[in-house]
Parts: sequence; C-alpha cells; structure tokens
Amino acid sequence: MTPEFILKKHFGYDGFRPVQKEVIDKILDKNDALVVMPTGGGKSIIYQLPALMFPGITVVVSPLIALMKDQVGALKANGIPAEFINSSLSDPEKREVFSRIRNNHLKLIYVSPERLVLDSFISFLKQLEISLFAIDEAHCISVWGHDFRPEYSQLSLLKENFPDTPIVALTATADKITQSDICKQIGIDESNKFIASFDRPNLSLNVLPAKKRYEFIRDHIKASRNNSGIIYCLSRKSTESIARKLQADGINADFYHAGLNAGQRNKVQDDFINDNTLVICATIAFGMGIDKSNVRWVFHYNLPKNIESYYQEIGRAGRDGLPSETFLFYNFGDLIMLRKFAEDSGQPEIQLAKLERIQQYAEATTCRRKILLSYFNEHLDESCGNCDVCENPPQTFDGTIIAQKALSAIIRLNEKVSSGILIDILRGSKRHEIISNGYHQIKTFGAGREISNFEWQRYLLQILHHGLIEIAYDDYNNLKITELGKKVLFENKKVEFVKYISAEKFKAKKEELLKEKQLPENELFEILRALRKQTANKNKVPAYVVFHDKTLRDMVSLLPQSHEAMLGVSGITEHKFNKFGKPFLKKIIEYCEG
Ligand code: ADP
Ligand code: ZN
Repeated sequence: MTPEFILKKHFGYDGFRPVQKEVIDKILDKNDALVVMPTGGGKSIIYQLPALMFPGITVVVSPLIALMKDQVGALKANGIPAEFINSSLSDPEKREVFSRIRNNHLKLIYVSPERLVLDSFISFLKQLEISLFAIDEAHCISVWGHDFRPEYSQLSLLKENFPDTPIVALTATADKITQSDICKQIGIDESNKFIASFDRPNLSLNVLPAKKRYEFIRDHIKASRNNSGIIYCLSRKSTESIARKLQADGINADFYHAGLNAGQRNKVQDDFINDNTLVICATIAFGMGIDKSNVRWVFHYNLPKNIESYYQEIGRAGRDGLPSETFLFYNFGDLIMLRKFAEDSGQPEIQLAKLERIQQYAEATTCRRKILLSYFNEHLDESCGNCDVCENPPQTFDGTIIAQKALSAIIRLNEKVSSGILIDILRGSKRHEIISNGYHQIKTFGAGREISNFEWQRYLLQILHHGLIEIAYDDYNNLKITELGKKVLFENKKVEFVKYISAEKFKAKKEELLKEKQLPENELFEILRALRKQTANKNKVPAYVVFHDKTLRDMVSLLPQSHEAMLGVSGITEHKFNKFGKPFLKKIIEYCEG
C-alpha cells in the first residue's frame, strides 16, 4: 500500500501538496523531521498518514484541548481510530482510552506536553510499540519563538527515552534561530529540515485607507452572504463596539478577547467553528487553535504590530485553498499609537524595527505579496496579480508644489505643530485652536484649501516617506523638516507623489473586482450547505468535519450521480460517504432532475 493509496482511501485526496510527500517518505524511513509550513499548508496529514502505515501507535503532542478535540473529531469522521487524553475526560473515560491504547486499538493518541513528560506516562509508553512522535506547534519549545511555553522545554527527554522512534516537529512560524533551537532541543539533525513556501496564492491582499472602514466592512459582509470571517481589532473595547454595531445592522456577529472568562471564550469559539456565528470581532487572542477551514475573509481594523502576527492572522482565511479576501485598514493615528506601544515595550528597538516593516508593507507601491514573502526570505519572480497594488498600479505625478506648501507652513510654524493642526492650517480652518494661536495669520494659511483633509493625510505620509520631514515622537509628534526637505523647499528639488484615489472611488473599484472574483452564487451550493449544517448539528461536530467547502464546491461542479462518482469528489472517502454522504447524493440527484 502506497502513501498515495492511503491518502485517497482515508482522506479522500488525489495528490500530495508540495513538501508533504517528501517529509512523509522521510518519516516512513524512520527519520526525524522539522517541518515549517504556513497555516493551512497541510501539516496534519504529514504525521497522520504515516501513523496509519506504521504498525504501532503515533503520539501527538498538542498544546490546546480545543485543538486536540477538533483534530480527533476530524480523524474519527474519516473512520480513523484516534483519541486524546486530557483534563476534559472523566476517570472512567481515561481508563477506557488507556485500555484501548494497551490493546493496540488506536492509531493516534493526542496528549498535552505536561502529561507526556510525566514519569508515569513515559513508563506507560515504554511498554508499547510507539511508531512516531509528532510535536505540533513546535515553536513553543523555543524562547526565540513568539509563543514560548515552559512545559514544552522538557520534550528533549523523548530522544533520551525513545532513541529509535522518529520524531516530527511541525510549526507554522519559526525563523532561522527558532528552527535551529527546535532541532537542537529535540535532537533533530538540521539536515532534516523541510521548509514549505509561505505563499498563499488564494488569499487576496488589500490595504485600504481607514476612512469609513466600518461601512466598508458592513457592506462587504452583506455582499458575501453567508460567508464567515474575522475582524481583528487593537482594543477589547472596539471588538465589543464593532460587534454591537454589526448586530444592530442585522449581521450575526460576536466578539472575543482575553477579558472574557474561559467559558464565554469557548462558547464564542464553538459557535464560530460550528457556523452558528458568522463574524467574530476579536483581539489577537483569537485564533490559535481555530481549525476552521472555511473562513472566507479577514479584516484588520487596525494596523498589526508586526508582519509575523499579520501573516498568521490573515492565514486563518482560506485554509481550504478556496479564494479568500484579506483587508488591512491603515491610518496615521494607529501608526502613532503603535509606535508608542513599541517604545514603551521591553524591547523598543526590535519592536520599532518590526513596526517599520509592516508600515512599509502597508504603504507599498509594488506588489504586496512580494514584500510579504521577502520578509520570510522567499522571492517571487513575478508580481502576484492578487493584491490591490497589482490590480490597481499606482499612478504618479509631480507633487513638488504640494510638498512645498506643507514644508513652508511647517517652517513658518517653527516646526512646532503636528500633522492634524498642520492640515487644518493648510485648509484654512477657523476652529478655535487655530485662531487663538494666531495660526490664521501665517502666509500659508489656507494655501491647500482645495485638497481634502483626508487627501492631505495621504500626502503628508508620502512627504514623510520621501524623507522630507520627520516626526519628533519625543516632542508631541511635531513635524520637523529634514535636509532633503529643505532642498525641496528652497532649491525646487522635484518630488513624485502617488496619485490619491478617494476612498469612495477605491471602494467602488474594489467591490467591482470582488464581484468578478467571488465564487458564483449557486443554488445547489446553498442547498448542500444547509444540509451540511443539519448533519453537523445532528452529529455534534463542526460543519467542516462533515465536508469542507472545497468538497461541496466539487460536488457542485462534478454533479456526481452515483456512489462511485461521489468517491471522485475531493475529500470524500468510502467511510465518509457511508457516514454522511448519502443524503448529499440524494439532494444532488434531485437537483439535477429539477
Ligand atoms: P495546517 O495544520 O498546516 O494548518 P491542515 O493540516 O489543517 O493545515 O490542512 C489544511 C486543509 O488542507 C485541511 O482542510 C486539509 O484536509 C487539507 N489538505 C491537506 N492536505 C491536502 C491534500 N494533499 N489535498 C487536498 N487537501 C489537503
Ligand atoms: Zn501583487
């Protein structure tokens, strides 16, 4: 029996994804491996498939109860004997699981790192035939990773106690230092490293000006019908207020943050996974362990702190490989606030440098995917065609006069104003603060009246990026002119600006493009989706455990009319067909007969 045969029989898939097969072969030859693969890349199959081919049991180390539960649920739905041992089981349930392990009735057992390293558990394992250890979320082992967990650091005892059993460590986020540290600690030879591409071509990347972001989000959700998604926000308060606003607008939304108690958090998470809640407004606390494959869009209401978190968060969309949208809203205010957070953090230099990289990404005038991938040391030869910059290449114009107006005002104000007041002065605002300070008497007062406030914000950002001004973060964020700025002001040095497109125009254009790209509305898909929900509720499993969106889409395009034809659909195994598939086949036949 080949790995390909097992893949089709137990998982219903026709072929391996890049890197999967290579690692599986390595493991089947009893070698260790470290696998770095993005979220949604398909890490689970890398140990689940060898687990089925090996004679003994595979032990999977997993940090979260929710994660274990979902994975075991999905395996069972495929007819694969797997269980977990954790504090959610009663004593009799635990005894039952232990006895099934002893009798070699299970192929996979999921445990937490704390339990695994108990002397008693290690002795128990030593009496068994252990085929493979799989360490999920392996970056938790390293203090260099971004989510170090002390209980992971004892995993080095696996090699000492089981020198002949292969170990595969898997993670979606590990830079070079973290990778080496994982290898060193677990005892994996560095030559057994497998790094998959971080590219997720099915995610469209968009950065939008933050103006009217709420309205954009609301309209997008309404247009994307029953598709679910996540809105990441900077503060707990805004997760609640945005969720309430969406609810008032008739959208099935909820919120999630670390201030909720464990019971509330689990409920919100479960409702989302089971498609009972469509939209979650969340802080970054939400996501780890959300194994939901049909998240169709992710919004960042605010600029994230760094590219790593941003990439992980947008990575929660489109795990099933179907087209999915991501949007980041960017404005000056968020940037200044995040700078302050970074400066006040324990490692200001690192945090500021990281913030600068995400800022560059947000302000990019070249393909965003190229920038993102280059952050992970990958290089894309051609522009991606699936980001807003590729879809809408920026046009430039001579911005010297606009820049000179701003620079001249800054000089006349003795470099003692921040961007907000500067814009008011340029626009000739008569508000109290302007008049009482006598700003209306300077020569450039009102010199930029014809340019909107928002447009000015965009131009000031460009003036900043051209290096003509600096923000004095230590002096009330006042703007200071640089040497280069003086050249523009006094020597007429030319500057190019990227043409401003109004938020409304941008939005309209984007919506048009989205409509073109969106998966077509389909009656049968909706029928099957409703049936899936019913089936999931009846079986008390998440909808995606019944069938992934991809599987439903495949049914819609192939219109299978028989048992055999159903087995040709991606993700349908004999076991799954018998367990869930018959009513779906019936619906498809009915639909075709009209
Ligand atoms: P990860 O753990 O890397 O985030 P998963 O293991 O959850 O990713 O896999 C993501 C999705 O891709 C799952 O729905 C999984 O069933 C699917 N998948 C994995 N490998 C394949 C494959 N070879 N062909 C088709 N789908 C696959
Ligand atoms: Zn691009």
